[in-house]
Amino acid sequence: MNNSLEAARECLQRSQDIVFFGGAGVSTASGIPDFRSATGLYNQMTGSRYTPEMMLSHEFFIRHPDEFYVFLRSSLYYPNAKPNAAHYALADMEKQGKLDAVITQNIDELHQQAGSKVVHELHGSLKRFYCSRCHHPYPARKVYTQDTTPHCEVCSGLVRPDVVLYGEPLDPEVFNASIAAVRKADCLIVGGSSLVVYPAAGLLDYFRGGCLILINRDATPYDHKAQFVFHGDVGEILSAISPV
Ligand code: ZN
Repeated sequence: MNNSLEAARECLQRSQDIVFFGGAGVSTASGIPDFRSATGLYNQMTGSRYTPEMMLSHEFFIRHPDEFYVFLRSSLYYPNAKPNAAHYALADMEKQGKLDAVITQNIDELHQQAGSKVVHELHGSLKRFYCSRCHHPYPARKVYTQDTTPHCEVCSGLVRPDVVLYGEPLDPEVFNASIAAVRKADCLIVGGSSLVVYPAAGLLDYFRGGCLILINRDATPYDHKAQFVFHGDVGEILSAISPV
């Protein structure tokens, strides 16, 4: 493996079908922490603390919708977060016709805010809500400006975020589109993901191109398979190797 910024930039210059796959590390420079670092909610009844993973499960949402929405508003929603250098570098590559798609595990829509058009949101978005009974959309603005648990304006069903909760399957359309993009790519950049959680690692297995670039704070189990490995800030490194 190589860690030359210059060589990676040349590799991107030669590539025509770049795909970016990103995890939580892409948004940390925008002030959005990995939700796993969020503090749990204290449970008055049991005297215990729910972990973030517990609160983001399908089961918790169904059983404790009020606590779910308290956690969502207090720990997952960052209305003032702005795209950072990573988001803008990728949007530029797409505009130049070099980048085919962004695949993201983040639920903050910062890629779209930066101008990216083709974004496969593996875990959905915290800016879309719908009724869990009749699927009627519900305005995100209303979820975040009221402090009660939202219910459908049509059928009174419980409103849910358009995100994939623990215990729920990924949207097959989004996942299949992601696989197709990775299969077609001649260069795959993976950023801000430790690549230990499914389906992150699984997606990499579909890559048949010649240039795999990994950018992450820490080492990943895939470092030895990549042509280029950079340990550092995703935005700084993407800006440095961006061919445009
Ligand atoms: Zn409804």
